[in-house]
Amino acid sequence: MPHDPPAQPDGPSVMWFRTDLRLADNPALAVAAERPLVALYVLDDGANGARPLGGAARWWLARSLRALAAALAAQGVPLILRRGAAAEAVPAVLRETGAGLLAFNPGETPIDRAAEGAVTAAVAKSLPHVAVSHGVRRSALIHDPASVGGRVFTPFWKHIRAAFVPPPPLPAPDRLAGAAAVRSDALNDWELEPTAPDWAGGLDESWAPGEAGAAKRLADFLDGGLTGYATLRDRPDLDHVSRLSPHLRFGEITPAQLWHAARAAMASGRATSLDVEKFLTELGWREFSYNLLNQRPLLAEANIQPRFDAFPWRQDEASLAAWQRGLTGYPIVDAGMRQLWQTGWMHNRVRMVVASFLVKHLLQDWRAGEAWFWDTLVDADPASNPASWQWVAGCGADAAPYFRIFNPVLQGEKFDPHGDYVRRWVPELTDLPNAVLHRPWTAPPGVLSAAGVTLGESYPAPLVDHAHARARALAAFQTIKAKA
Ligand code: FAD
Repeated sequence: MPHDPPAQPDGPSVMWFRTDLRLADNPALAVAAERPLVALYVLDDGANGARPLGGAARWWLARSLRALAAALAAQGVPLILRRGAAAEAVPAVLRETGAGLLAFNPGETPIDRAAEGAVTAAVAKSLPHVAVSHGVRRSALIHDPASVGGRVFTPFWKHIRAAFVPPPPLPAPDRLAGAAAVRSDALNDWELEPTAPDWAGGLDESWAPGEAGAAKRLADFLDGGLTGYATLRDRPDLDHVSRLSPHLRFGEITPAQLWHAARAAMASGRATSLDVEKFLTELGWREFSYNLLNQRPLLAEANIQPRFDAFPWRQDEASLAAWQRGLTGYPIVDAGMRQLWQTGWMHNRVRMVVASFLVKHLLQDWRAGEAWFWDTLVDADPASNPASWQWVAGCGADAAPYFRIFNPVLQGEKFDPHGDYVRRWVPELTDLPNAVLHRPWTAPPGVLSAAGVTLGESYPAPLVDHAHARARALAAFQTIKAKA
């Protein structure tokens, strides 16, 4: 057994990377980089009580860790991988490396904070010579959920906008020096990526996980999509959203970096204040979701409005499966669900439409949809996913009223007016004329056959009739409406 080095207050630093897989604008790394550095990532895989990552997010994590390891290796710093409870793995690496400093950015979820509390307590107890640093400020959020509350978005965001201007992002450390490496797990042994079957081909084609990929995505967005964002961000057929969500989710880029880049684009005349303000407001919804999660640690499990505990959800595995596979017979819903399955991402407008369809048209518990998104989204987020599902379901904070039921045909016709989005993801409908593309069951038989569509065979007939489903949902809501 090799002996651990003796305790050295001046020993190297261990940077415990978490959901901050980047070198730039990383406050804890800026401190850690002042000493020879050991970089550490711990896969807790549920060991801290956190929800295990879904399949698509595991794929992203593997790619992101590889990108981080390459960026660190270029400067001679090893990325050490360990698995298990952080309260055991982190002190073990501190001991093995003779470290005198532990640096990490504070987490923004109750579970992450519990894990770091356990780490800090273990270090204080068994390695009292090790200093602990969080860097000079928070970086995962713009605001501090401990100092701001609220369950209504507009006043919340007004307050944040007035009270918090994110400081300019920190550059990546000029120079890193690697300390002696210790044992690391092999990333492949963690089996984060699918092999049999390897379903990740569509993810590979769609994404470049890692800090460099995030920076490139932002640059492309500033060059194109941001112009017109305020008016066109609801159009899934166009390219006017940033698609930065998975990069933000894994901390490959920070909200402060986005904030300052967008404001700079405005200052230089490349973007209008309307577009930039709208973009910042969407970042505000992310802040709001984290704020809610901090008020409601069980956000993915418990209705924020308790009267929904009595909601008469239907148990119907067959219709849940049809929704998951994009076979509901409503083209905009099916296009979204297939985009999700193939690329791990779905446009926000379509997320709202498919979520509403599951909860209201199919009367399925929002938690079933939230769980499917958790498994299939590359940006599956512990705050934004459950907060958005509760918002759509009507049981959340500041939620869309339950009785406002999206009509999936009208949503399709309004937001995918030329049918480009549906044709891309539901190719069996390509030859239908626009007039019936979002409602194929209304097409005369001759039009269907000319387009090669046989309802019930080449494409499903609608799983439910809209008017019937709407009436059924409203009746179900009546049963809980009177409750406080
Ligand atoms: P942009 O329009 O470019 O917005 C920039 C950033 O702002 C996003 O990357 C995201 O971080 C944030 N943002 C934008 N809209 C929202 C929003 N409504 N709520 C919270 N943050 C927002 N977002 C996730 O990041 N992870 C999730 O797991 C997630 N689940 C969702 C589930 C449902 C049912 C719904 C309706 C929305 C969900 N969202 C989720 C929010 C939103 O759909 C995505 O953030 C957005 O589509 C990501 O695309 P983008 O990066 O191009 O967004």
